[in-house]
Parts: sequence; C-alpha cells; structure tokens
Amino acid sequence: MRIAMISEHASPLATLGGVDAGGQNVHVAALSTALARRGHQVRVYTRRDDATLPRTVTFAPGVDVVHVAAGAPEHIPKDALLPHMAALAAGIAEDWRVWRPDVAHGHFWMSGLATLDAAAAIPEPPAVLQTFHALGVVKRRHQGPADTSPREREWLEPDVGRRADRVVATCSDEAFELKKLGVQQDRISVIPCGVDLDHFRPEGDGEAKRRPYRVLIVGRLVPRKGVGTVIEAISQLAADGIDAELVIVGGGAPAGGGDPELTRLAELADRFGVTDRVELRGQVPQSDLPPVYRSADVVVCAPWYEPFGIVPLEAMASGRAVVASSVGGLIDTVVHARTGLHVPPRDPTAVAGAIRELLEDPARADRLGSAGRRRVESRYSWDRVAADTERAYRTALRRPRLAAAGGSAARGVGR
Ligand code: UDP
Repeated sequence: MRIAMISEHASPLATLGGVDAGGQNVHVAALSTALARRGHQVRVYTRRDDATLPRTVTFAPGVDVVHVAAGAPEHIPKDALLPHMAALAAGIAEDWRVWRPDVAHGHFWMSGLATLDAAAAIPEPPAVLQTFHALGVVKRRHQGPADTSPREREWLEPDVGRRADRVVATCSDEAFELKKLGVQQDRISVIPCGVDLDHFRPEGDGEAKRRPYRVLIVGRLVPRKGVGTVIEAISQLAADGIDAELVIVGGGAPAGGGDPELTRLAELADRFGVTDRVELRGQVPQSDLPPVYRSADVVVCAPWYEPFGIVPLEAMASGRAVVASSVGGLIDTVVHARTGLHVPPRDPTAVAGAIRELLEDPARADRLGSAGRRRVESRYSWDRVAADTERAYRTALRRPRLAAAGGSAARGVGR
C-alpha cells in the first residue's frame, strides 16, 4: 500500500521534549517505520519549519518525510497553525497528483483538515483515517481559559471526526469522547500507541543516583503534565524522612535555556523547600533515555488528563513500576496493583502515598516492573500496533468513502 501520513506540526525528525514535540512525533515516526517494515511505502507530510530543510528526507527504509511550504519556514506554535492548513493541503494534493496514496492518515485535528482537503482535490482520493492525539473538548474541560487552541477547533475538530472514513482512537476513553462528538461507533478503531521494546529494556546500565531513592518524570513540560503535583509530593515525603530525589526530564530547551515552565517549576521547588532534591534536567534525546529510566525506583506520570501517554509504556518496557493518574490512556495502559499504582489527578498526598508504598517495598516495585515489561511485550510493540493499523486501513478501503464528499474542510479558514 502507499500510505500518506499527515502530521502538520509533529515531524519525525524533530527533537523531543519541547512544548510541541512529544508523543505525536514518536507515534508518527515509529508507526511509519513499522508499516514500512511490513512492506508498505510511507510518505510523512509535515510543515516546513526551517528554510534549510530539503524537500524530502529519507527517515527510514521505505519512509520519506516531505516538507511542505505552508506559512513562514520557521517554528510557529501549533495553536497558530490553522491559517496555514489550506496551503498545506494544496502542497500535499500537488504531491498526490504524482504519488497517489491508497490511504491518508491525519494526525491531530488540523492535519485532519488538510488531509480531507487534499483528498477532495484529487481524482480517485485515498481512504482518509484520522488519529486526534488530543481532543479540544477534553482540553477545554481541563484547561478552561488557559487553552490557547483556536476557537474554530470547537466545530472543525468534530467535523473532521464525522467526515473521515475511519477514526483511530488510542484508548477507550477517547473512543467514548469521540462517540459523544457524533462519530459513529462502527467507524472507530481503538489502537494504542506502542513502545520501542528493544530500545527501552530492563537490562543494562542505569545512571548513578544521588540519594537512596530516585523518582523520575519524563515528558513535555506543560502545566497539564502535573509536574508541580509531584514536586509537592516529594516535599511531603522529605518531611516524613524519605530521602528521595526527583529527576525531571523534558523542557523547551536544555536546563537554563529560558523555558518559562522550567522557571516556574524551579520556583515551585524553592517554595516547597526541595530545590536540593529536584533536578530539572531539560531535554534529553530519546537515545540517551534508557539508563535514566533504569536509574529510577519509581516513574511518576501525574497529568491532569492524558490522551494516551507513551512515557508510562517506556517506563514499563524498562521494568519500572509506574505511579499514574487514572485518566485517559493511563487507565488502559497501567494496571492498578499489577504494573503500577493509580492515583487521582491533582492530588499530591495520593502521589506521595503511592511513591512511599513502592519505595518501602522494593520487592513489590520489582514485581510490578516485571509485570509491566510483560504487559508491553504482549500488547504494545510497534509491530503489533502497525498490524492493527493496517487492518483499520483495509477496513476503510473496503467501505464506501465518506471523506472525499463534502468539499473543503478548511474553507474560509484564515485565507
Ligand atoms: N521525550 C524525550 N525527551 C525529553 C522529553 C520527552 O525523548 O526530554 C519523549 C518521551 O520519551 C516520549 C515522548 O517524548 O516518547 C512523550 O510522549 P507522551 O505520549 O508521553 O507525551 P505527549 O508528548 O504526547 O504529551
């Protein structure tokens, strides 16, 4: 099959850990590579955000990344990209006139708009599938006025869901939200994200700790990841005489690079009197993460909400017990009392209690970590995710097309 992946802001070539580069980049890169291993040809279309990028870069055997001109060739925050989706669609459609895909898979709602528009612009359009990665309705519920998404997301996003031939939800919670938005149940496939089981392994060196216990957070540093909750939990543990350090990986720039969220978290650590226990490491390339995961006694993921969350899978693949908020994708991936412990979101005392349980019973933490490794091996390899995704593509190809009908999705938007 010829497969087009459309990922407007999240290139597989990007550095991870900044505000707009995380799980979606990993997902598109790993899914495309695993589909190519199954014999498919994959082109990933992303917005050109740097004038020096060549038009096409071969990312892996069978996977090309195509940079499409849409807006200034520089970084533009993803919430300011909507006006450029029509240009992105036009550039993609131009490529499809010479390289016609069988399937086009949009990632994030704005890519969905561009995908539907590009499909409508060519004869014999591909089947259109959509993965949202996050839903505006959920973001708005949790972030309220702090949500910087364009206002149009409210109606354009559900429209993408209703018009795509098939929607891939990454967890059961998202499938439920999609149904509420009017997406027919029989057009939804639930397929999780995966994890690189060879890269993230329990065996191998771990970094040296600076205190008897190490608690680890990895992720894009945005307030909704709940890092502040864990800093507060560490201060409660310190007050109880538990000598743990908290290592926080991620951020818009290496530590000291002026990322406002890093500054906010440093101030929070100071306010809770745990500056000497909290290390804000900044961005770490994924290639260097395995020994960091292996150095942790516990990995904590305490978001307010989480569309999927690849970090807990990486922690489980590394054989670590996970303390996770029971929200979104984490409800499916982390099994309470089997691979980790669930806690309510925004509850530092519950996080402190769960970390404490695991630090005080290392044999139990090891058991949970080993069970986590077995769980990701059986369910979350990218090969399995790619096989399930291929099945969804074939289902979409067999059914009558919805996506090409209905004209321009982004019509009138910012032009
Ligand atoms: N990540 C990384 N370096 C960093 C911070 C994060 O490589 O400094 C990676 C991390 O390993 C994971 C991804 O970014 O693969 C974050 O994905 P997740 O789904 O957990 O969160 P999202 O970014 O989608 O909110």
